[in-house]
Amino acid sequence: MDNCIFCKIINGTIPARKVYEDDDLVAIEDINPVAPHHILLIPRKHIVNALDLTAGDDALVGRVFRAAAAIARERGVDERGFRIVQNTNADAGQSVFHIHFHLLAGRHLGWPPG
Ligand code: IMP
Repeated sequence: MDNCIFCKIINGTIPARKVYEDDDLVAIEDINPVAPHHILLIPRKHIVNALDLTAGDDALVGRVFRAAAAIARERGVDERGFRIVQNTNADAGQSVFHIHFHLLAGRHLGWPPG
């Protein structure tokens, strides 16, 4: 997608601090972290949000969750706990319309979220 910031990060046009990548996804440090560990897991495929997922993406979403868990383990925040968040559309606060999953950890995460 021409005007998508995350597509540009994925294709290297815009720099980002990559922490993981494979054939299906890229994980980067969020530019405006809201927790000590704030990683964005971004599928390479341009999917808008949860409403745009198809049955063909089921394995991809599973990959994202397993990669997030691996990053949490690697950073030693697995035992204490972490949160995986996907915001869809305005009320949820989605600001980038290329699906991504926030991995948040390193502090107590309140519930319900704001
Ligand atoms: P959303 O609000 O769920 O769509 O999350 C978008 C996230 O992308 C926010 O947490 C932003 O801080 C983050 N973000 C936006 N642009 C960049 C960037 O260029 N690099 C890294 N993170 C970004």
